[in-house]
Amino acid sequence: MIVHRCDGCGKELAKGQLRYHVKIDVRAAYDKLEIGLAELIQDHRAEMLKLIEQMRHKDPREIEESVYKGFEMDLCPTCQRAYIKSPLRFHPEQGAPESGIDIDRFLRSLGLDRTDPSEGEI
Ligand SMILES: [Zn+2]
Repeated sequence: MIVHRCDGCGKELAKGQLRYHVKIDVRAAYDKLEIGLAELIQDHRAEMLKLIEQMRHKDPREIEESVYKGFEMDLCPTCQRAYIKSPLRFHPEQGAPESGIDIDRFLRSLGLDRTDPSEGEI
């Protein structure tokens, strides 16, 4: 039974087959806010109204994504190796160097047969 698909290469991943889950959070990062006298006496109401007016003409999705955007994907073992080697330049069609280690076979040799329905998912 196919329950997942590799988001890198599109390969079908059967139930119990080793896969890797990638979760990426892209968040706006700010330096520590320093508040001085100038900030305390500033007209905050006028500033807020100005910001609201600026946002009124923008796409709500664009505003949200300027603060936070999350991504999640599943990868097959081949794409996982390529991904961790170069996450910012991940191109699944380039493939990954064979590591010579079959982690799925290794886990099965330890008795962790992930396809056994009586054990549930690991
Ligand atoms: Zn893949």
